[in-house]
Amino acid sequence: MIVSPKIRGFICTTAHPEGCAKHVAEQIAVVKERGPIEGGPKKVLVIGSSTGYGLSSRIAAAFGSDAATVGVFFERPGDEKKTATAGWYNTVGFEREAKAAGLYARSFNGDAFSDEVKHEVIQAIHEDLGQVDLVVYSLASPRRTNPKTGEVHKSVLKPIGEVYTNKTLNTNTGSVEEVTIQPAEGNDIEETVAVMGGEDWELWMDALQKAGVLADGVQTVAYSYIGPEVTWPIYKNGTIGKAKEDLEKTQRSLDAKLSAVSGKAWVSVNKALVTQASSAIPVVPLYISLLYKAMKDAGSHEDTIEQMDRLLRERIYNNQPLPDDAGRIRIDDWEMSPEIQNIVGKRWAEVNTENLNTLADYEGYQNGFLKLFGFGLDGVDYEADVDTSVGVPSLS
Ligand code: NAD
Repeated sequence: MIVSPKIRGFICTTAHPEGCAKHVAEQIAVVKERGPIEGGPKKVLVIGSSTGYGLSSRIAAAFGSDAATVGVFFERPGDEKKTATAGWYNTVGFEREAKAAGLYARSFNGDAFSDEVKHEVIQAIHEDLGQVDLVVYSLASPRRTNPKTGEVHKSVLKPIGEVYTNKTLNTNTGSVEEVTIQPAEGNDIEETVAVMGGEDWELWMDALQKAGVLADGVQTVAYSYIGPEVTWPIYKNGTIGKAKEDLEKTQRSLDAKLSAVSGKAWVSVNKALVTQASSAIPVVPLYISLLYKAMKDAGSHEDTIEQMDRLLRERIYNNQPLPDDAGRIRIDDWEMSPEIQNIVGKRWAEVNTENLNTLADYEGYQNGFLKLFGFGLDGVDYEADVDTSVGVPSLS
């Protein structure tokens, strides 16, 4: 099948198997170029390992630290007529590269929120690795079925207490428009916390600890975002921000529980980047486009792989986590530097459809978005017939 991008709103409904594999290979090259991560993790579980920050975490651990990795994700396989989701092809690419490098890699495709998947993964760790020394929690999902009650929770991206109006980027047309978002109502906050808060991270860690598969000195990390004031009504102070507050509460609770195995829990605040999850948030794509331009001009731009490599190499495994007052690792430090924020803040006030390409890196945003689905990568023949039904080796 010849595969081309089919974009519907903020999602691309096709993915290119070879392009995704190339994207993974490029990320691997970034890590290898930097050399081994001293004292890095050796047996790693990544929950949400197929795209975005979780995929890059898996790559950084495997290729920076020769780690055996277990990955959990929720993706759709392809067949002769339909492409798989990008995360499926990313994992095919990752596992092939891992095998070629002699690294253990095993993947689980299923609902990470369920008891069944937790049970299966723990069983596999038990049998194959004995224990894990790093657990990365990187799920981003619009809904979660609570395994105890069966209730389906849905997360929303809404401000709290007031209507929020600001600029946004229509990523289909490239026009800067105004968006008005109505505030959370009913149980929107509780629902969002139930999906994106810390409850499931804690359920995972409790189950892993109870099963005795956490190594002495284990570390666990989950990801958060803070960003500049202009995005606070929709992010930090919005429904998703409440979920992230809950995640931080969980971090403190896990820290206490993990002391039994001399372990440590972290929340890492990461940089705003184009991922499948972030492209769905109003206002954020415009901010990201402005941010990319400012950071590329300053030479400080990073993608998910540079972020995750730096997190492991310079913070978690270098005894230099440099936590902020709330105990969070701030790998968003370059994004939040006053120099960058001054530029972005000034341009935020000025940006419109006409000057978008001068003030912002809309092209970089679009290229980054397409790359998530395996499109626009150098060296990939997009006119060629490709096998869209490739299987993830460890799942076949
Ligand atoms: P993403 O959409 O790229 O990745 C989400 C992952 O979760 C995928 O591997 C997907 O398969 C998996 N997943 C979703 N539902 C699942 C389920 N039910 N069972 C198993 N797997 C499931 O998202 P991302 O942007 O990398 O986000 C990961 C984390 O990083 C989130 O906590 C997010 O808030 C945080 N973060 C993102 C940004 C950003 O700008 N993208 C910035 C800072 C922090």
